[in-house]
Amino acid sequence: MAELMQSATVLSVIDLTPRVRQLVVLPKAQKLSFQPGQWVSLKLPVGTKPPLNRAYSMAALSTTSGELTLVFDRVPEGLGSSYLYQLKAGDELLLSGPYGNFVLPQPLDREVLFIARYTGLVPIRCMLKALYAHRDTSPILLIAVAPAEHELLYHNELLSLAVTQASFRYLPLVATGDEAAVRLTMTMVQPLIEGTPHVLPMLCGTKDFVRPLRAFFVEAGYERKEVQVETYD
Ligand SMILES: Cc1cc2nc3c(=O)[nH]c(=O)nc-3n(C[C@H](O)[C@H](O)[C@H](O)COP(=O)(O)OP(=O)(O)OC[C@H]3O[C@@H](n4cnc5c(N)ncnc54)[C@H](O)[C@@H]3O)c2cc1C
Repeated sequence: MAELMQSATVLSVIDLTPRVRQLVVLPKAQKLSFQPGQWVSLKLPVGTKPPLNRAYSMAALSTTSGELTLVFDRVPEGLGSSYLYQLKAGDELLLSGPYGNFVLPQPLDREVLFIARYTGLVPIRCMLKALYAHRDTSPILLIAVAPAEHELLYHNELLSLAVTQASFRYLPLVATGDEAAVRLTMTMVQPLIEGTPHVLPMLCGTKDFVRPLRAFFVEAGYERKEVQVETYD
């Protein structure tokens, strides 16, 4: 089936952290039905050969009226994210989708270990929303690494979730740069996976973060395909 490209209206713009912004957009032609973890492709009128295609994952579950919640960080000198940063309520965007296979398997037969670097948390947040909307009690550990304490995304929401959901554990970490983020994450994960039944690792972020961590799991005895990844660049 041909992909449907449609316009969407920006309904609201809010800052979640000093460098992370949320846009709620409403597709005008057709409501999108998506699985938590999937993304839409935005066609942005910038760059030398517009449109510039940029992918953004849904941060929240679909609503009856069809709004999509997109959350992104401002990449220094990033063409796409800088364009999105100047949008206001009432502006329009072109998008298509949903796309993607970074979704939870059904049924969940083992503990899930989500590992996110910064806005890599976006699709995972959507999956968590879905799990707890269905009162799922599967064991989940989330490791979220941010470049600074005030950049920990959804921090209060995740702390509350860890208090109210006995099966959910949340480990926020702060590290500047991918290398430090990888090192710190490995230090935390090593004792958790050593000599225990295999968990389901689901990793999301830029390649410099995700790839060494996938290699780390493979080194620890996981098959490559057991490690689910979504890379942003
Ligand atoms: C499947 C998928 C889902 C995505 N979902 C999201 C999302 O929900 N939220 C979000 O913020 N981004 C998401 N991205 C990344 C997004 O599509 C853009 O790549 C990002 O906004 C940077 O685009 P840009 O044009 O501003 O930067 P570009 O000009 O393309 O510069 C990219 C450069 O910045 C570096 N970089 C630093 N931070 C990031 C980052 N967060 N993402 C990508 N590159 C980065 C890259 O390593 C690369 O060198 C997703 C990407 C994919 C492939």
